[in-house]
Amino acid sequence: MASIFTKIIQGEIPCYKVAENDKFFAFLDINPLSIGHTLVIPKKEIDYIFDLDDELYTALMQFSKIVGKHIESVIPCKRIGILVFGLEVPHAHVHLIPINKSSDMDISKKTLKLTKEKFEQVAQKINDSYKKSL
Ligand code: AMP
Repeated sequence: MASIFTKIIQGEIPCYKVAENDKFFAFLDINPLSIGHTLVIPKKEIDYIFDLDDELYTALMQFSKIVGKHIESVIPCKRIGILVFGLEVPHAHVHLIPINKSSDMDISKKTLKLTKEKFEQVAQKINDSYKKSL
């Protein structure tokens, strides 16, 4: 069965998309640790990130860097933290988290509750920055 993230790529499940190219897709995490918390995924559905072949793994990290740069250009933060867990959704994904202090990466803390309008506004800002660079 297709993963929830494959369904997002295929448009069967809605998301707040921030960037896309032929191999990768980026969208806001629905339970963000901070405003702008984004997930970057390969379109090819592979569960464990270390099972990606070297070329795809490297390209995923390169695309994550591009998306991260666009996030930090529109979301005030000290830097973008990178996390990979994959314990919940069996489709490799990189978390890009705008941070100001190390506790902003604490996954045990309560996540933010944002309105649909806020999610849309944040995704739009990042997506505008990304699209301008193409
Ligand atoms: P993990 O697999 O442990 O890295 O966690 C999966 C992440 O995906 C969590 O941060 C969830 O909030 C996020 N997530 C799960 N379903 C969705 C969805 N439909 N849209 C956006 N983010 C999601």
